Amino acid sequence: MPTRSCVVCRKRDNKCNLLRIVSDDDKVIIDKHQKINKRAIYFCKDKYCIEKAVNMIKKGKFKLKIGINLKSLEVLLNEVRNELGE
Ligand SMILES: [Zn+2]
Repeated sequence: MPTRSCVVCRKRDNKCNLLRIVSDDDKVIIDKHQKINKRAIYFCKDKYCIEKAVNMIKKGKFKLKIGINLKSLEVLLNEVRNELGE
């Protein structure tokens, strides 16, 4: 099973345990089935990492090696955070 690391905490895990997000044109989308052939970033399915990423984006401190629409990413991560609940 391939492993990837979370872009926030850098912890490695099996790909399938992580949230895969890909850049699709100027939007970002969650790749639920992990099959979209585009460059991706991964997050732990963990409120801590999701919230930390949102805060870093807000402060302009979220740096990625791939071009991604950060505004769109922020919106998406906020939705994920709400789904994860309190
Ligand atoms: Zn993480």
